Amino acid sequence: MTSPASRSERVLHWFRSDLRLRDNTALAAASGRASELVLLFVLDDRLLGGAALGAPRLRFLLDSLARLAAALEARGQRLVVKRGLPEVVVAALLRTWKIERITWNRDYGPYARRRDAAVRRAADGLGAVVEEHKDRVVFESSELRTRSGAPFQVYTPFRNAWWARWHAERPERAGPLRLAPPLATARGDALPEASAFGVGSDATALPTAGEDAAARRLERFLAGPVADYARDRDRPDLDGTSRLSPYLRFGAISVRTCLHAALELLHTEPRSRDGARKWMDELIWREFYHAILSDHPRVLARCFRPEYDALVWDDDDAAFRAWCEGRTGHPFVDAAMRQLAATGWMHNRPRMVVASFLTKDLGIDWRRGERFFLARLVDGDPASNNGGWQWAASTGSDAQPYFRIFHPVKQGERFDPHGDYVRRFVPELRGVEPRFVQRPWDAPAPPRDYPRPIVDHAAQRIRALRRFEVVRAGREARRADKD
Ligand SMILES: Cc1cc2nc3c(=O)[nH]c(=O)nc-3n(C[C@H](O)[C@H](O)[C@H](O)COP(=O)(O)OP(=O)(O)OC[C@H]3O[C@@H](n4cnc5c(N)ncnc54)[C@H](O)[C@@H]3O)c2cc1C
Repeated sequence: MTSPASRSERVLHWFRSDLRLRDNTALAAASGRASELVLLFVLDDRLLGGAALGAPRLRFLLDSLARLAAALEARGQRLVVKRGLPEVVVAALLRTWKIERITWNRDYGPYARRRDAAVRRAADGLGAVVEEHKDRVVFESSELRTRSGAPFQVYTPFRNAWWARWHAERPERAGPLRLAPPLATARGDALPEASAFGVGSDATALPTAGEDAAARRLERFLAGPVADYARDRDRPDLDGTSRLSPYLRFGAISVRTCLHAALELLHTEPRSRDGARKWMDELIWREFYHAILSDHPRVLARCFRPEYDALVWDDDDAAFRAWCEGRTGHPFVDAAMRQLAATGWMHNRPRMVVASFLTKDLGIDWRRGERFFLARLVDGDPASNNGGWQWAASTGSDAQPYFRIFHPVKQGERFDPHGDYVRRFVPELRGVEPRFVQRPWDAPAPPRDYPRPIVDHAAQRIRALRRFEVVRAGREARRADKD
């Protein structure tokens, strides 16, 4: 730990996806060294202008920043918000405020890496020390390798290696934060309203942002639902998961904090043991997809399994629109897409089902669905989103095998057995008898205002199998030619 005597530098900590004060690795390091500390967030013009950052996530981000700013003010510090291109903004501030050291927590996507390399070059040119920290994940992909030194491509061995390293290292949380005082002259711009970016206060009901809300959510989840998580996590009609994904996305809570809290339960609450274990597995899936993106940045544009780049997708715009708007005539799929529109979030099981429906039942390229999700999800994260989409499309690392295709009605019947989820989000089906909610076309009087199914699952399933088999046969033929 840095001693107070070494607190002699003018330091800038650049917040990005780590919008919290507790257990923040780079912030703790910055504060330990600083006699004067600037706390910066850059509203990145490249991201704000892009289609990927849609209204829900932008609103949640602005709310997160407002809460971070308030928390800092309560502790005699301030959040300096600037808008522009990070490499330009940061370079100007380093120069004007004579900053000696800049800290940040590492990000793993290809854009973030290019951005950080540009900022590093600017800082080097100005003689400021750059200090990067690991924080977003417990272990980076370079820390977890197979025996032959290769990156993992399959989840289970990755998870085993992950736990082995955890037990060997026992990564700890950062200690209590002693915030250094602000640089008196460092002022930013006022935090803009969402409307400044052409984003209205749309009807999406978002969760409350911020570090305190994240901590409350974790506490509430571990005090109750986690005990039945292993059983209920696939049920979108129940409140059985943590709903921490938006907070993890923006770093309002650290993954270390989540894991330590779950591990404590393992030892103190036998009833919660299975649930806590399963929940930690899911946090490790998040780490797995971060590792995949870090090692294979091409997955954002191409299939993880290159042979599937040859798949020929349908380009049916009307079907895509029906999927986006929750009008496919398949209740479980439509409920999920409407949950996304209404709340900016979707439960994991329906995420898998709607992604399968888009790629297998509608034969539409997974990249269109991935982009749509990224623009709409409050937790939209390139690594987990790409991982989830390529899993469902069967093109990814450790993906769903192409011949296992979800039946959209049976999935509904199994995971929404009373139809409560469907009824919550598809009001046209509220009057339908429970046994017909997932297949209203079989009801004695199908509701007139709900669409008929836009495709026949049995027929589309065969087309999907053929789509994959054509590619696989081509690959086999090429192999045979070579032999
Ligand atoms: C097509 C598709 C797209 C997805 N897009 C995203 C995305 O953009 N952002 C995102 O955070 N998650 C994404 N997921 C993963 C998962 O659906 C969400 O993380 C989860 O539903 C969030 O709810 P929760 O916080 O209640 O999860 P919990 O069940 O409480 O799990 C705890 C945490 O573990 C992580 N996690 C859980 N499941 C997964 C998973 N399958 N993959 C990676 N991490 C996981 C999340 O950080 C989550 O908050 C996607 C999944 C699919 C199938």
